[in-house]
Amino acid sequence: MSARTPLMAGNWKMNLNHLEAITHVQKLAFSLTEKDFESVEVAVLPPFTDLRSVQTLVDGDKLKIKFGAQDISAHDSGAYTGEISGAMLAKFRCSYVAVGHSERRQYHGETDELCNAKVKAAFKHGVTPILCVGEGLDVRKAGNQVAYTLAQLDGALKDVPADQAETIVIAYEPVWAIGTGEVATPEDAQEVCGAIRGRLAELYSQELADKVRIQYGGSVKSGNVAAIMAQPDVDGALVGGAALDADEFVKIVRFRD
Ligand code: PEP
Repeated sequence: MSARTPLMAGNWKMNLNHLEAITHVQKLAFSLTEKDFESVEVAVLPPFTDLRSVQTLVDGDKLKIKFGAQDISAHDSGAYTGEISGAMLAKFRCSYVAVGHSERRQYHGETDELCNAKVKAAFKHGVTPILCVGEGLDVRKAGNQVAYTLAQLDGALKDVPADQAETIVIAYEPVWAIGTGEVATPEDAQEVCGAIRGRLAELYSQELADKVRIQYGGSVKSGNVAAIMAQPDVDGALVGGAALDADEFVKIVRFRD
């Protein structure tokens, strides 16, 4: 059995204001039990404006739910209007930050070079990056999904030392499956997640590659999560739409039931 603890993370995107966030996390806290946390790690990635409320709730009630942000600035501080630094996220005690989500790449022109800077910024401040990679439909149709995704991985990990890389989380998210209801088959997910682990072994070592958690993301729901999680190189899920329904997210967390 894999020694990697699955990470089930909810990416709320631009949904749930800070009051709704409190209600949502309270629902999760009410439903999830000690037993759930023995075998999985659970995280939520709310909008920046919710982080303080979520942090207060998590700290105050000593919840085991982890939390993080959906983006990070590549810079530490300064004249970068609208950006949020790694130091600020660390001050909130964010455990995770998504880097290079396909929506950031698509709508904000984020390149592999910028993702590399953001990965480094996250590590610099002790926040674990969840690096999102994955191909669009045209690349998938051409059968180039592995090469395309590995090139994104190479770019984002450039000059990232092994002691940091061994703690990174990679989310393989085929763009054509995000928010579309179109889920990759378990075999599709395994093909690319397995290739990602193989590339980590080439870039670093097999020992390091075996430690890194690789999530699948793309229309994950309670009805399809078990088959995806059964794949040997899938160590969790990054869940968008289905994470906005607390009951559904709890079912996803309990994918083994
Ligand atoms: C995501 O936002 O990372 C995602 C996978 O979204 P969805 O689950 O809605 O496809």
